[in-house]
Amino acid sequence: MDTQWFEYIVVGCGGIGSGTLFWLAKKVGPHVLGLEQFTLGHDHGGSQDHSRAVRYNYIGKEYVSLCKGAFECWADLEKESGLPLVYKTGDVSFAEKNTEQERYLARMKETMDSYGIRCDCLDGERLNDRFPQFTRNPNCKALYFPDNGVIDADLANAAHIQLARKYGASIREGVRVTAIRKTGHVILVETSHGVFGCRKVIVTAGAWVNHVVKSVGLELPLLTTKEQVTYFGTPNIKDFTKGNFPCWSYYSPKGTTFYGLPIHGNSGSKAGIDAVGDLVNPDTRNYTPNRKNLDKCIRMLQKHIPKSLGPIIQTKTCLYTMTPDRHFVIDTCHRTGFPEVLVCCGAGHAFKFASVFGKILTDLVTDGQTTFDLKPFTLDRPALTDPTFEPQVNISKFEKRTQTNEISKL
Ligand SMILES: Cc1cc2nc3c(=O)[nH]c(=O)nc-3n(C[C@H](O)[C@H](O)[C@H](O)COP(=O)(O)OP(=O)(O)OC[C@H]3O[C@@H](n4cnc5c(N)ncnc54)[C@H](O)[C@@H]3O)c2cc1C
Repeated sequence: MDTQWFEYIVVGCGGIGSGTLFWLAKKVGPHVLGLEQFTLGHDHGGSQDHSRAVRYNYIGKEYVSLCKGAFECWADLEKESGLPLVYKTGDVSFAEKNTEQERYLARMKETMDSYGIRCDCLDGERLNDRFPQFTRNPNCKALYFPDNGVIDADLANAAHIQLARKYGASIREGVRVTAIRKTGHVILVETSHGVFGCRKVIVTAGAWVNHVVKSVGLELPLLTTKEQVTYFGTPNIKDFTKGNFPCWSYYSPKGTTFYGLPIHGNSGSKAGIDAVGDLVNPDTRNYTPNRKNLDKCIRMLQKHIPKSLGPIIQTKTCLYTMTPDRHFVIDTCHRTGFPEVLVCCGAGHAFKFASVFGKILTDLVTDGQTTFDLKPFTLDRPALTDPTFEPQVNISKFEKRTQTNEISKL
């Protein structure tokens, strides 16, 4: 079989791969190929659902500028597609007073203030005055972010892909990349359906990233977990619509982060817990929800947002692929002799960045630079290279749990 030639190949067409195909094809035209092992829009990975939260709630200037970039890129996509994608529902983060979590929120507030991001402090009473859906709790402290919101994830992925095709990108479904090799200046991408040649490759393979990058001499210490979100058929529908209810996160004193979103895409209010799922292999995992985590989520909602509960419409499982420090990976594989191969891993909180990452990856493969500070996301940081690095991830399998995971944001 002849080797088909493209300038750039994107491996994996989930959220980040779709975003990359869009920005890359927009910049370079038809010399782009996207390869997806399943069908577009499948739900075996990390990106497919009715909604995801788009938030500024981070600590650190690199994240704040990425968040600003994220909102700008989504706005560009909305403009170009004519589709509404982001809904500014606002967002509440809350924690109990006099806890490590409250101090964490205070630090978050400082970050927001220093970068001019709107964020109001509310005590438990004012939170309940503003959103009576939250139980009146004088013992709680909250931050309200008016500019955060919900993105229609399924639609955003589809829009990226359709516009990438408009700009001439080729996208092949059901094609699994098995290895990346190099002969002279040509990169060969070996797949289940033949070999493709190109100049540069961007690997956005989510939970399967190690399967792809091992052929370029890389193995990342990633933790892949089966997470879940539940849609509750609340009888109080109107109280949980996007116009009446914000996204939220609750940082419990035990270090667990619960989160939820208003109704979007179906009739259910949505809730889940960050990074408490079982470690899985993406090829052999099942789709059965974890009952213990579901019960824990229900107990939290009974206490803090009781009217959101109702019969379960669906509990949907989905993969997190986390680095031990929960920072992203965005880097080339130059240290193992493959500067032509760029790898990006979303670390379980990257849907909001899917479009801006696509733009960044495009700038990196075409111009070799970006205006964003990517230092925390390099492949040579201790979290990825030091085997003794303690995972800062709220997974019960790890004895050492951080009380407040700095990057535990959805
Ligand atoms: C329950 C849940 C809730 C979340 N909530 C939020 C949120 O509210 N806000 C937020 O910002 N983030 C959230 N996230 C995280 C976010 O969704 C993910 O970080 C992001 O979507 C990951 O995108 P990805 O493109 O890296 O991975 P994926 O979407 O998994 O895409 C990887 C793609 O690569 C393909 N692939 C892999 N290997 C190969 C191969 N060898 N050949 C060809 N194709 C291949 C896969 O089939 C897949 O389609 C959540 C995640 C989960 C699971």
